[in-house]
Amino acid sequence: MIIYRIKQSATFRDYAQCTITGNWRITREKQCCGEYLSELTPPTIAQWIPGSDTLGDFTWSGMIPLCQNRVKDFLKNNGFHCTFSPVRFEQYDGHAGRSVKNLPLVEHPYKGPLFYRVKAKDLLIPNTERTPRHLFRTCGRCGKNIYKAMTSDIHIDSCNWKGEGIFRFKENPRSQHMFVTEEAKHSFEQAEFSNITFIEAGRIV
Ligand SMILES: [Zn+2]
Repeated sequence: MIIYRIKQSATFRDYAQCTITGNWRITREKQCCGEYLSELTPPTIAQWIPGSDTLGDFTWSGMIPLCQNRVKDFLKNNGFHCTFSPVRFEQYDGHAGRSVKNLPLVEHPYKGPLFYRVKAKDLLIPNTERTPRHLFRTCGRCGKNIYKAMTSDIHIDSCNWKGEGIFRFKENPRSQHMFVTEEAKHSFEQAEFSNITFIEAGRIV
């Protein structure tokens, strides 16, 4: 079965975009490799950024998806295991580097539909021997290789898959990337959510 990575659609500029400004919490102290592991704790604080004031079913801050109630209900009703953290919007402060001049911007204070930061709960273990890894860097002190998050040609042995429809990977600790099965992709497509697309990312074999 093919798996897909979910991300913002090619037409994401038609939709309001946001940037997450808090609440990040460091969950693991700095190691010699210079790695920080941080996690967002509720509520997620975000700012709408200038460009569009059309709200999509999904909005993205980089790889982090935020979704509306319609998506939340869909995921819950279809047995997709996810957590939903409420999002609070603060006023745009210009840090995203865009001028408000002549660009539509979602009104502040935000009174629109609720958004949630959605995160897949299930963590799958890929076959790392059969999945190409791309070196990010080697630690100058301990020599440990640090790899980029796996996003393509991912090989999952079917014995390590128990029917999860939406998931992340244990080997991508810092990564927010979320993946769906072919079957889950069809359900998403039938629901016709705006501002989401599916990129082929590997196989369950
Ligand atoms: Zn190190």
